[in-house]
Amino acid sequence: MAQNTKATFTLNTGAKIPAVGLGTWQSQPNEVREAVKAALQKGYRHIDTALAYGNEHEVGQGIKDSGVPREEIWITTKLDNPWHKRVGEGIESSLKSLGVDYVDLYLMHWPSSTDPTDLSKHLPDWDFLKTWAEMQKLPASGRVKNIGVSNFGIRNLEKLFNDPAFKITPAVNQIELHPNCPSSKLLQYCKDKGIHCTAYSCLGSTDSPLYKDATLLKLAESKGKTPQQVLLMWGLQRGTSVIPKSVTASRIEKNFELDGWELTDDEMKQLSSLKDRFKVCGDAWLPIKVFFGDDE
Ligand code: NDP
Repeated sequence: MAQNTKATFTLNTGAKIPAVGLGTWQSQPNEVREAVKAALQKGYRHIDTALAYGNEHEVGQGIKDSGVPREEIWITTKLDNPWHKRVGEGIESSLKSLGVDYVDLYLMHWPSSTDPTDLSKHLPDWDFLKTWAEMQKLPASGRVKNIGVSNFGIRNLEKLFNDPAFKITPAVNQIELHPNCPSSKLLQYCKDKGIHCTAYSCLGSTDSPLYKDATLLKLAESKGKTPQQVLLMWGLQRGTSVIPKSVTASRIEKNFELDGWELTDDEMKQLSSLKDRFKVCGDAWLPIKVFFGDDE
């Protein structure tokens, strides 16, 4: 039985990303510091944040408060859409806010180069291919250990691979993955290309409809586990890292009790066959379409 809380996935760079991390989207500055500290003291060694979350400074404070040495912690942060033309500035801003010299993983948050002067518009002279060309320069600086993408479907990954400036395969694609959004085709595509997937909204996000799913509740009860633990195990057994968000100390603890048990093939199948489908993070708020409904 796997010791998931100490497990890592090896990326195409050779780096090892801890399988379980703490998510911080919507974690407010006044609460995220304590959450990060609590998680690290519990044993988490992976923290996921983003410039867009507006909480990097407090995430950095939580890391310091925890007393866990920096080199033992995997930090992921992300380049915000309106910063695509300013990749160097974007990473410097994140490093300064976090109070660290490097991040372990720097992701392009979305394949949308949004106009910083008008968020409803896409930049006329820029796109994510140019952003990736800039991001490819970062590992040489030592300020970023690995680069990756987020919210990339197959169509945009193909576009990236076919770009003449393309040199570095993303180490990670961080995407929405839970039993109501399994994206099995995209997951397999990434595996085939050597791209590790991190599952975001792995619990179904805020007010998750999954918490009321009869199949999940029954299964969790029969195993003596919480529905959230079962959802995280489903993600881990699909070969993805999981980054559940919580600002509640007791939940942060419970979500990390993932050692010494597993889901059977049949239990995995039950969860993978739930009929409901939903996506927490669509693309309607972006100036361009990035999801094409063909990744399932
Ligand atoms: P999650 O799927 O992690 O769900 C978080 C919600 O579940 C919160 O409301 C939390 O409440 C609640 N929760 C957590 N644990 C438990 C528990 N044991 N029992 C009951 N409720 C629980 O949602 P997110 O959408 O935040 O996704 C996780 C992370 O993924 C994000 O925080 C972020 O880091 C990343 N992400 C990345 C995106 C991207 O575009 N790359 C997009 C979305 C997310 P509470 O906090 O109040 O305890």
